[in-house]
Amino acid sequence: MINVAIDGPAGAGKSTVARAAAKELGYIYVDTGALYRAVGVYGLRHGIPTDNGEKISAILPEIKVELNFIDGVQHVFLNGDDVSEEIRLPEASMAASNVSAIPLVRAFLFDLQREIAAKNNCIMDGRDIGTVVLPDAKVKIFLTADDEERAMRRYKELKEKGSNVSFQEVLDDLRVRDYNDSHREIAPLKPAEDSVTVNTTGMNLEESVEKIVSIIKEKM
Ligand code: C5P
Repeated sequence: MINVAIDGPAGAGKSTVARAAAKELGYIYVDTGALYRAVGVYGLRHGIPTDNGEKISAILPEIKVELNFIDGVQHVFLNGDDVSEEIRLPEASMAASNVSAIPLVRAFLFDLQREIAAKNNCIMDGRDIGTVVLPDAKVKIFLTADDEERAMRRYKELKEKGSNVSFQEVLDDLRVRDYNDSHREIAPLKPAEDSVTVNTTGMNLEESVEKIVSIIKEKM
């Protein structure tokens, strides 16, 4: 199977770019952040502090996270419920970032990611795909952009969905997540040694997709 790993910080455009590139190449697109978000949502629903490693680790046996691809679109299920919308709420972002630093959570989600990659040609995006989950991926891309630009993209997305969050809140939130993701002990966010870094600051979506697709095609 052909596996492409795309890692990078929040708001770099990974999901939009990876989805478009996957469509063009006929691969499935796997958004691994959704898995951490689903675990975070479970914690939020049950009033468990998502930064409490012991408590979150203890409830993992109660959780079943599954990914289904319906017409090529990924849906994430938490104990049988489709939580694809709920996981996009801003509070789910921070909950995901919190639970993602817990070693047992990462171990819990590891096999699922590996199984999908073993069975499908896919573009998988996340934080540790090229470094930990798929170290043998054929193509590895580290997608990034300046934090203010990433925050502005996220802010616009949230506004379109009717959120009344401020730009400053989005920027602060993103900086905290960047810091947490790149400073955690386990599987920190960093470019894989054999990855190609693409900085999309100042690039629009079409330009970013074109760049990524051309890197993938070149490496094949
Ligand atoms: O990509 P997304 O913003 O949906 O990810 C939510 C959170 O899940 C990230 O802030 C990160 O902490 C965590 N994550 C991770 N490893 C991945 C994907 C996401 O730690 N492969």
